[in-house]
Amino acid sequence: IQTSVATPARTKDIIAKHHFTFKKSLGQNFLIDQNVLQKIVNAAELDNEQAVLEIGPGIGALTERLAAVASAVTAVEIDQRLIPILQEQFSNDEHVSIVHGDILKLDLPTFFEQQFASYETVNVVANLPYYVTTPILMNLLEANLPLHHIVIMIQKEVAQRMAAKPGGKDYGSLSVAVQYYCTTELVGIVPNTVFIPKPNVDSAVIKLTKRTEPAVSVEDELHFFKTVQTSFSQRRKTLANNLIAMAGKDNKQAMLEMLESIGIDAGRRGETLTLHEFALISDSFLKVGW
Ligand code: SAM
Repeated sequence: IQTSVATPARTKDIIAKHHFTFKKSLGQNFLIDQNVLQKIVNAAELDNEQAVLEIGPGIGALTERLAAVASAVTAVEIDQRLIPILQEQFSNDEHVSIVHGDILKLDLPTFFEQQFASYETVNVVANLPYYVTTPILMNLLEANLPLHHIVIMIQKEVAQRMAAKPGGKDYGSLSVAVQYYCTTELVGIVPNTVFIPKPNVDSAVIKLTKRTEPAVSVEDELHFFKTVQTSFSQRRKTLANNLIAMAGKDNKQAMLEMLESIGIDAGRRGETLTLHEFALISDSFLKVGW
């Protein structure tokens, strides 16, 4: 009888049978805990009408749980050595597609059309390779894909930054970027003992639900994100001292007056500003060409 992948014994068996060796450079830490997998799958709220994209299936611990509940699962794995293991594992599962590829190099809109043509929305569920969490996530969010929600296991500190509200040390440009596109919910903290091999950091599961419209409407998204980046560029500096880089030194007085006119104290720090306030600054700066 084949038991599930995610037990220490079965994972060790599969690894030994295929002479697999872990590549740290690919962020390979495989899940061996049924409870944690259940938590991820529960948070993903899947049913038999939904399609899932999994990034980095490894030897399929999460994949098999997703396949048990979803209508279609496409799993993209960068490591060629894992492809035959996954293919063997899912050879009888017609609704599981194993794709060999680098998620960062795929043309995501085309890929989604190819894989998920008959679905209105797609959910992403993954235990992500931690070295590329942010680029993977930002690519997914910026590509304007038909995503409904994303449930990912990532490094705990990164999850806390994504979910942070204004006013604390965790709040920064990553919080704003993620919350512009999504609402966030920290599902739970996960100790490093549930992986083989154990990563050096703690992990967390976070659920990001894509908003139908961005959290704030702005004249120009690129300018908005530039304003956010600039406001956080030196965290110990005041908003005015950071934003002067955009307005130009010669316009200091005009910039202070503008901030006052939109009700923002120039002595505040970037980390206290809401998305709405960043949007106000960006639109006002844009109007005068800063
Ligand atoms: N899902 C499995 C699990 O939970 O046991 C494995 C998770 S492991 C943290 C991350 C996986 O992502 C590895 O299998 C790794 O080879 C794969 N990976 C790393 N970089 C990738 C990339 N750019 N595109 C696709 N897969 C990648």
